[in-house]
Order: sequence, then structure tokens, then C-alpha cells
Amino acid sequence: MPVRRIKPMTACFQWLDQIAGAKDQWAVEHNKSTNDIPTWEDMKQYFRDTPTCPAGGTYSINAVNEAPTCSLQNATNGAHILRH
Ligand SMILES: [Zn+2]
Repeated sequence: MPVRRIKPMTACFQWLDQIAGAKDQWAVEHNKSTNDIPTWEDMKQYFRDTPTCPAGGTYSINAVNEAPTCSLQNATNGAHILRH
């Protein structure tokens, strides 16, 4: 059963923010270290819809202590980079 459902949003950086949040939650709930890397299977309980880059990029979840990335992160407008 999902503990928390994250409302889907449109922009890529918003998805990255939600992936980052889901990773933190996953790490706490499953007693993982910051070096652990969750799979999409691990992540899917936190999302009603699969995170999808609106421009067609591919997401890398990365380790808990790293920011998730989009394959389009070098795009000039910065829309595919996690903002803090
Ligand atoms: Zn993207």
C-alpha cells in the first residue's frame, strides 16, 4: 500500500524534485544507506504515474545521496536539472 502519493506535475525539474523526495522516503522506510541506489520498482509505490520527462529525456535515479538526473540535463534552458 502506498504510504504517500505524490501528485504528478509537468515540468522535468519538478519530477526530479519528486524523485529526490521519494528516494529520501525510500531510504528512511527501508533503512538504506546514502550509497544505496533504489530501482524504479522501489520508486513506483511513491508515484501515481511514472515520472516522465516532458521533453522525452530518461531519468537516472542515482544513489540516495546524489541528485536524480535527466538525460537532457545539458539542455541550455536548465529545465532538466534539479533545483534546490
Ligand atoms: Zn528532462
